[in-house]
Amino acid sequence: MLDYPNEVSTVLFVGTCNLRCRFCQNLPLLSMKDLDFKNNIIPKLISRKQMIDHIIISGGECLFDPKIKDYVTYLNDKGFKVGIHTNGMNFDILKNIIDDIRFVGMDIKTTYEKYKSKKISKNINEIMNIEKSISLILSKNVKYDFRTTLYPDYVNLKDLKQIAILLKLGGVKEYNLQKYIPIRENEINYSNEDINNFKNELDNIIKTNIRGLI
Ligand code: SF4
Repeated sequence: MLDYPNEVSTVLFVGTCNLRCRFCQNLPLLSMKDLDFKNNIIPKLISRKQMIDHIIISGGECLFDPKIKDYVTYLNDKGFKVGIHTNGMNFDILKNIIDDIRFVGMDIKTTYEKYKSKKISKNINEIMNIEKSISLILSKNVKYDFRTTLYPDYVNLKDLKQIAILLKLGGVKEYNLQKYIPIRENEINYSNEDINNFKNELDNIIKTNIRGLI
């Protein structure tokens, strides 16, 4: 996952999320108690400020943390440059903070149909917010990174093409594919050859990059 393009960043994880993706590597975080942001996290960040270009607020899903606006405001006030990682499903909050952040890394898990059929989300409004969030991000002076993790149960080539077309129509310049790192034994995964084939096909729609091949 790209934290912030070409710069050193510190990533803060929050423990809220509206989804429960089967490939989630952060599930233990989602049951953690809130960290003491003002009294614990901020002083540590300030003591290392010389070494930090940016702070990325990640998750979980940070736009569902009721204190996200406070975090962004507080970090900006302390002179940090702030970015977020999001699934793009809380449009109203994104709209509320987007002028105060410099980077949005947005994960698109799969197609609208599969968000429902794979039981990633039942909330139609949140699913429809994905497209609104893409448009909002593109309308603002903010760096962005749209990406999909290649979890075989959630995306195949047909799905990836559908996402690529959605991004292309929205005006996105590049799409990023991330190889899935299995979290269970004997999981089926896409091979490097599969992923290169996906890239070649998707390049016909939108410039596509691959991350995480080894
Ligand atoms: S959106 Fe991210 S944090 Fe939430 S369940 Fe999915 S992978 Fe995990």
